[in-house]
Amino acid sequence: MILVRNYVNGIFVDSKETIEDINPATSEVIATIPRSNSDDVNEAVLAADKARDNWSSLSLDERRKWLEKIANALEARSGEIAKLESLDTGKPIKIARAVDASRSVANFRFFAEFSKDFHEQKFLMEDATNHVIFKPVGIAGLITPWNLPLYLLSWKIAPAIVMGNTVVAKPSELTPLTANLLAEVLDEVGLPAGVVNIVHGFGHETGQAIVSHPKVNLISFTGGTITGKKVAETAAPMFKKLSLELGGKNATIVLDDVDLDSAIPEIARSGFLNQGQVCLCGSRILVSDKIWNDFLEKFIGHVSNMKVGDPSSDDSDLGALVSLSHRDKVESYIHLAEREGGEILCGGKRPSLESPFDKGSFLEPTIVSNLDYQSRTATEEIFGPVVTLHKFEKDEDAVEMANCTDYGLAGSVWTSDSARGKSLAEKIETGMVWINTWLHRDLRVPFGGVKSSGVGTEGGRWSLSFFSQPVNICIKE
Ligand code: NAP
Repeated sequence: MILVRNYVNGIFVDSKETIEDINPATSEVIATIPRSNSDDVNEAVLAADKARDNWSSLSLDERRKWLEKIANALEARSGEIAKLESLDTGKPIKIARAVDASRSVANFRFFAEFSKDFHEQKFLMEDATNHVIFKPVGIAGLITPWNLPLYLLSWKIAPAIVMGNTVVAKPSELTPLTANLLAEVLDEVGLPAGVVNIVHGFGHETGQAIVSHPKVNLISFTGGTITGKKVAETAAPMFKKLSLELGGKNATIVLDDVDLDSAIPEIARSGFLNQGQVCLCGSRILVSDKIWNDFLEKFIGHVSNMKVGDPSSDDSDLGALVSLSHRDKVESYIHLAEREGGEILCGGKRPSLESPFDKGSFLEPTIVSNLDYQSRTATEEIFGPVVTLHKFEKDEDAVEMANCTDYGLAGSVWTSDSARGKSLAEKIETGMVWINTWLHRDLRVPFGGVKSSGVGTEGGRWSLSFFSQPVNICIKE
């Protein structure tokens, strides 16, 4: 049993009440975590406030060196990060290693390196020079979800602190273990007290207390669209700087000239990575009618061979969903699909697994066909291992189908003609489109959604701009 405590002002502190943390693959309690209230959050904000002046007065180079130290110390524990992430989320260990652990280290290393070139800018006039300097915003409130816990937390903490802000962060209460490991690492490297404070607890209590705290100047939130609206309702009238990275219902468009044999494994990965619990997952697959039968046969063949089971086994392609209640939600969409006239071509059931996994929140990868592309199942975010298949005739039809949801996060196009793919990608209303690949990330490029998928952009210079305040100083010669 792991005892997780808040990390405030460089000290691990208990809270009066606790919450149980469950391993979703077995339903066993694995940890207790603080149920932080507004007083606990206030302590963390006071610590961040006290640390502000000293931290922001360090040079960018000095702060970059802290990021390098954190990256090295995290890397030394990357095996442990992968194990904890797999235990806490139910995801297969091979995904936790390749995606979560490696990216968490890379985030610190990337911003340590990339921020080197984020300098003051000069704009010359005939009789004056404008100096644009980048100041810290102040105290950053960072709120993150359960699907990629340390990956997303480090993606916010690294740019926030390198730009001179101090932080109060709240990870999802479902997956607190790697945020706790990060607190241990910050303690071990001796990051000055109060620069990063981590408070655990429920979103509507701890999260809400951070968002509504008058001393928190900036909110960076990643999570669902409904929660994002609540966060905006509180933060916007307080004029906080706000970034919202929200849900998605991403289209995967398969054109008639695709090389199916190479595309199918990647299309399946985009549908089912992390049990379909990635905001970027391609959960609506739009297939040209000219290759429909061939696609169906090969895709079903591939997906029905994916192995669901023990997350700690390297053989498992899919592990457990994050909780029993989340599996209930995903299953309710499978039932809705049936009521909407959908045909389950593969999966749709709980796999039969041996003890202790018989008590876990597992679900087979599921393919649904025959649904109207505007049906609820095909347009609402399910966030589980369920994809819907839809047939289209012309490229313009695929664009119309791709754009018919409220979401606008990402998408992918599969074709042997990249010019045709790019011209189609330009018409898709999302923040990101991949052609013949998926989740192929260069950390310098913009990341973010449009429509109900969010407001604001992360990545490279967009993250550094968000976590800083540009100030223009105009000097007349
Ligand atoms: P969620 O329920 O919206 O929760 C996200 C975070 O917000 C959690 O830490 C949650 O705490 C907290 N929270 C809940 N209510 C709050 C409130 N009133 N004020 C402040 N914080 C509050 O999302 P989730 O179920 O954890 O994650 C899945 C969603 O995240 C999906 O919609 C997915 O698409 C989206 N997502 C988006 C991106 C992206 O980059 N666009 C990336 C990953 C995930 P509790 O856990 O305690 O409720």
